[in-house]
Amino acid sequence: MYIILILLAIIFATAAGFVAFTIFFDQAVLVRRDTFYRLKNSKEKLIALTFDDGPSPVWTPKILEQLQKVDVKATFFMTGEHVTRYPEVARSAVEEGHEIGNHSYGHRVLVYFTDEELTREIKDTQEAIRQATGVTTEYFRPPKAWLFRREKEIIRKMGYKIILWSLNSKDWVNFSDKYLIRYLVRNIRSGDILLFHDSGGAFKAEGGDRQQTVRTIPLLVEKMRGKGFSFVTVGELLKHEVKIG
Ligand SMILES: [Zn+2]
Repeated sequence: MYIILILLAIIFATAAGFVAFTIFFDQAVLVRRDTFYRLKNSKEKLIALTFDDGPSPVWTPKILEQLQKVDVKATFFMTGEHVTRYPEVARSAVEEGHEIGNHSYGHRVLVYFTDEELTREIKDTQEAIRQATGVTTEYFRPPKAWLFRREKEIIRKMGYKIILWSLNSKDWVNFSDKYLIRYLVRNIRSGDILLFHDSGGAFKAEGGDRQQTVRTIPLLVEKMRGKGFSFVTVGELLKHEVKIG
């Protein structure tokens, strides 16, 4: 009897630990080497907003509307699968002046891929983005951040810059917009790249609820502009990086 109780307690503790780990720990900090994840040493107060996993026919237009209202250009890391499914949504992001990055085709963790599979995954995504928007992107963001040295080398040789983030909104957890804004405002530093999502749920590629993300954008922009910050794309941040040398 006691053994069963102890086993149940162990299983519960492991599950709770796993949930806490995914919610409160940002795995990107472990794989930042040789990636661009924030602009360091900038004298200007700059922030880049990034949105992953789209385009979504439901949430991307709502996010674009908010960005337009506050006159902010952002960077969208899209999956090839979603671009192929919703090319007109991808196109509208480009038409409104936003930047596109490659976020793999099927949003699977790439460290299990062979070199050929990895290359194909990235090329197919690029081709989907090009067909839908005419854009050739040089930015790549790996699904869930995971990449090791071998994959990073292959991707860099293909001409991409690997872009991660320095502040993770964890918006897929569906925290309230009030919590999100409080957390972000408290933690933002100059040069940060913020991670949001315009598609995807906790355990699926599509169908998540991004209402909190949509509501967060104008409030966050207003608050940070009040503190003297400007919002730029990842490409703009990179230009400053080159200047700083
Ligand atoms: Zn993603």
